[in-house]
Amino acid sequence: MVDLDTLFSLCKRRGFVFPSSEIYGGFGGFWDYGPLGVEMKRNIRDAWWREMVQMRDDVVGLDAAIIMNPRTWEASGHVKHFVDSLVECKVCRRRFREEDVQQLECPACGAALSQARLFNTMFKTFVGPVEEDTAVAYLRPETAQGIFVDFKNVLTTSRKKIPFGIAQVGKAFRNEITPGRFIFRSREFEAMEIEFFVRPGTDEEWFQYWVDVRTRWHLKYGVSPENLRVYEVPPEERAHYSKRTCDIQFQYPFGWGELEGVANRTDYDLTRHAQVSAEDLSYFDEETGQRFIPYVIEPAVGVERTFLAYLLNAYHEEPDKEGTRVVLKLHPAIAPYKVAVLPLSRKEALVQKAREVWALLRPHVMTTYDDSQSIGRRYRRQDEIGTPWCVTIDFETLSDQAVTIRDRDSMTQDRVPIDRLVGIVQQRLADSLR
Ligand code: ATP
Repeated sequence: MVDLDTLFSLCKRRGFVFPSSEIYGGFGGFWDYGPLGVEMKRNIRDAWWREMVQMRDDVVGLDAAIIMNPRTWEASGHVKHFVDSLVECKVCRRRFREEDVQQLECPACGAALSQARLFNTMFKTFVGPVEEDTAVAYLRPETAQGIFVDFKNVLTTSRKKIPFGIAQVGKAFRNEITPGRFIFRSREFEAMEIEFFVRPGTDEEWFQYWVDVRTRWHLKYGVSPENLRVYEVPPEERAHYSKRTCDIQFQYPFGWGELEGVANRTDYDLTRHAQVSAEDLSYFDEETGQRFIPYVIEPAVGVERTFLAYLLNAYHEEPDKEGTRVVLKLHPAIAPYKVAVLPLSRKEALVQKAREVWALLRPHVMTTYDDSQSIGRRYRRQDEIGTPWCVTIDFETLSDQAVTIRDRDSMTQDRVPIDRLVGIVQQRLADSLR
């Protein structure tokens, strides 16, 4: 698998990801997504939303505020438990997560490390003009609490019956002790989470169901089976609310690591919010006449972790006539551009025709246009950013009203009439989504 440095340099050179605030030396754990990165992130989000919300009749969406009433985080246990254990090197003063070091030895200089101390990883801020303790609020470290706090509102307005889920995509912030490994661990990231509410007693079945659904989703959109596994998180490593957690892991260049977490949060969160807010957050089951606090299964994944794993999985170097072809074999739904429109030369008549073809495609799919340098170089440039199809306009196009469509992976070229082009591209995209 490609190493992180090579991937980072491609990402930077081609406009996927830049270090945040780079002209000021960057800012650890924060990243900016460039013109290609922003398209790819949007595609990941859209693919998730399409299958997890739009294609299902048992999940509805929500967009809650990032900053919530701080009592939320007292009730949820985050003020007390959302901590990492920090150790510091006594010599070079570097800081590490205790989890990441062995034998209390500094991974950088080998000197002894300090005793571990707990560090809350929620970002604090102040709401209102006065910076005093009573004005402290937190940037959410997960989107889940917005869902729990709005449970009753969503339940009554959507008229959903259990089992059903609430999905949310949005920014989350964690003051990680050691951000790094490129975008793997960032301090600002975007979470895609579902809280799926079920009858107590059916939670274990639903847990397995969600592990399977989410595993299949990653296999469909961007991970090869040999790079994916499900890891049972041992009790001592689980979050404070979890009865069972499985991590869907990806094989990163630095080893197996979490891509997505699926947790059985039981009735913990709703019970806590009901106690602290004194609101009744129970559910009345019309079928059985019983009232209970639902159990919750949570599949939670980061947009950027998915972005990283899919890029790593897609990256290929293949020998070719000119040396090496770098190609990102991204799923067409995830690739930033679906089609690149390329006139064979910059001759006025060709450029004009190419622009007509481009205008035809643009309302339907994300496209790009390139008329600089040789056609071979242009194909390589599109391969390197994962564009699945290149449409070439040549001199014959002017007489036969047909273009060549080249496939990124097989490199086969088909001649197709311009008036069928949109339909063909749409069909290929639809086929990739089956
Ligand atoms: P870790 O133990 O590695 O800190 P976690 O178990 O706290 O991670 P979860 O709370 O399960 O992580 O988060 C759910 C998902 O959100 C993760 O699987 C990952 O995709 C994403 N995620 C969590 N923290 C970060 C981060 N700091 N940067 C990027 N993505 C993250």
